[in-house]
Amino acid sequence: MRSVNYSADEPKLCLSLTEATLRENLAIVERERRRVDLVELRADFLDEAELAEVSAFPRLSGLPTLLTFRRESDGGARAIGEGERRGLLDRALDGGFSVVDLEEDLEAPELERKAAEQGTMVVRSMHDFGGVPGDLSRRLAALARRPGEIPKVAVMPHSVSDLLRLLEVGGQVPRAIVVGMGEWGFPTRVLPGRFHSVQSYCSAGEVKAAPGHVDPKTLRETYRLGETSATAKLFCVIGNPVLHSRSPWIHNPGYRALGLDAVYVPVQVDRLADFFMLAERLGIEGASVTVPHKEEAASLLAETDASVTQAGACNTLVRESGGWRGYNTDIEGFLAPLRARLRGALAGARALVVGAGGAARSVVAGLVAEGARVTVVNRTGPRARVLAEQFDCGWAPAEEAAALPAFDIVVQATSVGMSPNEDADPLPSLSFRGTELVYELIYAPRRTLFLARAERAGCGVIGGREMLLHQAYAQFRLFTGRDYPAEVREDF
Ligand code: NAP
Repeated sequence: MRSVNYSADEPKLCLSLTEATLRENLAIVERERRRVDLVELRADFLDEAELAEVSAFPRLSGLPTLLTFRRESDGGARAIGEGERRGLLDRALDGGFSVVDLEEDLEAPELERKAAEQGTMVVRSMHDFGGVPGDLSRRLAALARRPGEIPKVAVMPHSVSDLLRLLEVGGQVPRAIVVGMGEWGFPTRVLPGRFHSVQSYCSAGEVKAAPGHVDPKTLRETYRLGETSATAKLFCVIGNPVLHSRSPWIHNPGYRALGLDAVYVPVQVDRLADFFMLAERLGIEGASVTVPHKEEAASLLAETDASVTQAGACNTLVRESGGWRGYNTDIEGFLAPLRARLRGALAGARALVVGAGGAARSVVAGLVAEGARVTVVNRTGPRARVLAEQFDCGWAPAEEAAALPAFDIVVQATSVGMSPNEDADPLPSLSFRGTELVYELIYAPRRTLFLARAERAGCGVIGGREMLLHQAYAQFRLFTGRDYPAEVREDF
C-alpha cells in the first residue's frame, strides 16, 4: 500500500473523483497523475453497479488513494442506509486504501479496527455547509479518536473574519486538514500550508466534489502549489466578488519567469479592516484593490502616493517598512499604451472622455497631466461637470455629443457594452470621422460594439486589455521591484 506522509510544510494535493464509473475516474487519474499527490474516490458518486468493485481501485489507480463514502447529510451524492454504507466501506477497505474518511460522529469500531489492521490512515472529518460553527476550535481539538488520525474540518466561511478564525484553529493541532468552502474559503484551497492544513482537495471533472474546488492544473501552474516555499512572498487581489479576476494569470507567470519565490491569489474581502488583519497574519506584502474597495482604501490609508490623490482611488497596497502605502497604477496603465501609440503627440491633443465614474477620473487625470485638452461627456450630465471642474476641462451632457467638434482621441470609460450586456453602445449619437484614436477601457469582450464601430469607420483602436496589462505591470514593479518579464508579456 502507498502511504501518505502528511505535513503542513508540504501540503498534499488530493484529487477528488466524482465520476459515475471506476473506468471514468481512472481516465481522470491518468490525465492528472503528474499533478496530484493522491486521489480521493468519492464512492457516493458511483453508479450502483460499480460499488461492488471499489476495493479494486487503489491497485488500479497506482497512486495513494483515499476512500470516502460521504453521507447525504454531509454533502454526499447518494441516499443510502447507514448500515449499507458501513458494509460497503468495510468491504472496500480490503482493497488496501491508503486513507479512509470517517465522520466525526460515526460510531464504527469495526471500521476503525479494519483500517488499523490494513495500515489505512483515518481522516476524521466534520462538515458545516452553513457557516463556521462557534465551537470549531473545541470540535477540531476533539476530532481525532486514536493516535495517528488526521482531523479534518470543512466549513463555509461568509466573511474575512470567518477566514481569520480558520487561520487560528488550524494551528492548534500538529496535523489537520482545514478547508474553507465557497468563495470566502478560496485562500485555504490555494494556500493550505498558510492555514496549517496538510491537504488541499481539488476536482478535475465536470462535477465539483465540493463548493470552491479548483482544478489541479490551475492550482499547480497558476497558483504554483508545491512550486513555492512555505515562506514565499504573498500578494493578492482583493474585491467582492473577486474570483473572476484575471490578475493571478498575469502576476504569477511573471514571478515564475523571473524565478521569484512568490505567489498571487484572490481574496474576497468584505471589510478592509479585517483584510489588514488577515494580511498581518498571512504575511501578505502587497495587494491589488478592485471594486468596491478602491475609494475606501484611498481614504483609510495614512500613507498614499500622489497617484492616489490624482485618481481619487487606490488600486494598489504595498507593505513598506513604515506600514501600508497606497498607489494607483490605473493612470500609468492607461497612459502607457497611449504614449506608445502617439509617441509624444499627447500634449495638445483633443480628447473626448465618455463616462464620469472611477475609471474616467483616472483617464482624465492622466490625459490632463500629459497636456491633452479634455472634454467629458456622460449620461448623467452633472457628474460630467463635477469631474470636468476638478481637472479644469470641458464637459457636455450625452444628448449634446453629436454636436461636439472633432477629437484626436476618444476614450470609452463607461461600463456599457461590458459582458454579458455586449449589445449596448454608450454613445450611439457619436459618429466617428475615421481620424480618431479610439481607446476602449472594457476588456471583456475584447471587441465591444463601440470599438467595432470605430474600427469600421477607419479609426485606430486600443482595447481595454492593454490598460489592464499595463496597470498590472506597474503593480508588479511596486510589489517585486522588478520589471514584468518581456517573455511572458503577450501570453495572457
Ligand atoms: P463606475 O464608476 O461605476 O462608472 C460607470 C460609468 O458608466 C458612469 O459614467 C456611468 O454613467 C456609465 N454608465 C453606466 N451605465 C450606463 C448606461 N446604461 N448608459 C450610459 N452610461 C452608463 O465604473 P468604473 O469603475 O469607472 O468602470 C467603468 C468601466 O471601465 C468598466 O467596464 C470597467 O471594467 C472598465 N475599467 C477597465 C480598466 C482596465 O484596466 N481596462 C480599469 C478600470 C475600469 P452615470 O454617471 O450616468 O451613471
